[in-house]
Amino acid sequence: MVVGDPRRRGGTADRRAAKSFDAYHAGLRAAFEAGEAVLAGGGSALDAVCAAVRALEDNPVFNAGRGAVLAADGRAELDASVMTGDGRAGAVTVSRWARNPVELAKAVRQHSPHVLLADPPRSLLATWDVVEAEVGWFETAPRVEQLRRLQAESAEGPRHGTVGAVALDGAGALAAATSTGGMANKANGRVGDSPIVGAGTYARDGVVAVSTTGEGEAFLAGVVAHDVYARMAYGQATLARAVEATLTAELGSRDAMGALIAVGAEGQIVVGTRSDTLLAAWRDGDEIVTRI
Ligand code: ASP
Repeated sequence: MVVGDPRRRGGTADRRAAKSFDAYHAGLRAAFEAGEAVLAGGGSALDAVCAAVRALEDNPVFNAGRGAVLAADGRAELDASVMTGDGRAGAVTVSRWARNPVELAKAVRQHSPHVLLADPPRSLLATWDVVEAEVGWFETAPRVEQLRRLQAESAEGPRHGTVGAVALDGAGALAAATSTGGMANKANGRVGDSPIVGAGTYARDGVVAVSTTGEGEAFLAGVVAHDVYARMAYGQATLARAVEATLTAELGSRDAMGALIAVGAEGQIVVGTRSDTLLAAWRDGDEIVTRI
């Protein structure tokens, strides 16, 4: 299952985004198909979520990879994380060089003794065989204009369009991945929930895989992705109950907007939202569903 959250309440950018929902639906469907093709070929849940997120990062309508929102200095500072249900995770924050931050996060999981790298050096890409972005790849004209407007109006930047994917593979392994540009006009160096294991991304085999989107500070303080897992593992909650309780307890109490996607160990899918608009895609029998 994949997700994109293009809109929150109010704002000019939000109204503009609403006009082009077709592009979001098409992008989600393509990303879902990319992930599903990996699973159909016997690939792992990790490779599937990375394929889906890569497709979303390459699609400029989403706030991740190319077309991500820009930080206050006009550059993209990208965040991404992956986690597999065996407990291994990798993440990057303030990523500037990798064309697909999710691939760099995956490489951290695979090659590094660490879980999270901040402002990872360009030299790592060649070492780990991760593709470098061409100059100007991330900074699209609409995002440059958005930043100019926000700075001229001294307005708070929107946070939406983060992407993520969760999957269960044929071997019963779970994985989750999340990728974002964060919040438009954010202070340079600001880190949201998306690259933080337990807040924006979490997976545990036999239980659940979770990817989140929304007001990062609330997801960080509420340790939201792990909270869903904990309610299931320690409280024996069903996935649906766990998601509902987490959103109420950790987002509702903070009056925060956001959403998450989750898949359980039996393949059950839950899309939970406290947001005006969440786009998600999943398979229902013969059909791929993309919904707001
Ligand atoms: N959670 C992201 C952040 O705060 C933003 C989003 O999901 O749209 O960086």
